[in-house]
Amino acid sequence: MMGPQHALSGAAVWLAGSWALEQFADYHQSPLALAVGTAVCAGGALFPDLDMSGKVTKNQGGATVARTFGVFSLFAAEVMEKVSLGVYYATKLSKDPRRNNGHRTLTHTLPFTVLVGWGTTALCAAYGKWAVITILFFMFGLALRGLFDEWAERAGWVIITLASAGAAWFTYANLPGGRGYPLIGTALGVGCFVHILGDMITRAGVPILWPIPIKRRMWMMIGLPNRIALRVGSKAEVVGMRIALTAVSALATVGLVAPSVLSRFDIEI
Ligand SMILES: [Zn+2]
Repeated sequence: MMGPQHALSGAAVWLAGSWALEQFADYHQSPLALAVGTAVCAGGALFPDLDMSGKVTKNQGGATVARTFGVFSLFAAEVMEKVSLGVYYATKLSKDPRRNNGHRTLTHTLPFTVLVGWGTTALCAAYGKWAVITILFFMFGLALRGLFDEWAERAGWVIITLASAGAAWFTYANLPGGRGYPLIGTALGVGCFVHILGDMITRAGVPILWPIPIKRRMWMMIGLPNRIALRVGSKAEVVGMRIALTAVSALATVGLVAPSVLSRFDIEI
């Protein structure tokens, strides 16, 4: 799966989940909380690919996510990839193949997803303002990169950085702290999980069972069989997924927003 589809699937899952929570559990969110959750989940759905590094010194390559903040995020991706590769070798069993790249290993596991969700919430609770603004800044940047990929390509990383910083500041100033912090962590964790699922329906699969050893392999790659798996970047994936995910997002948004608009309309009449 490629960047924009990952981001869009994060947004769609968060909106659909929010709609379901409101419909069946009476859990209501303010429009700002909804927007923030959607953006963070979309950004989080790109986060695991921060293990795909490019060439830092030449400022080239890397995943969508690695180019978000120019050479800075490219460097972060380099670190993430090497750490992932280190963890791979530290925990690999005899049947796990040798690798020279850490892509699709540590950041594509369930423990990583949980750690990111929990860690985000803990950081926000412990450090407050600056942790919240920093995390939102990163996630908004990723979301812009993923959801508005063509615009982002034209705008360049400086504009993205400025736009993300502005949005993060605005959100911090207006989002209530108490319920807002766990929301950020949950959205990020859910985003990472959605990313892993997205990679599972493409060819290579992900080591989702790590660290459970199977047949002397710790890093068993699990995904759909090649016959039915979507080809990465194939037309079916790009066009079909985009249409389906956009439709889900739009329907969920209408379902979430329409009732309050209608009730306001009634009151005014
Ligand atoms: Zn991935």
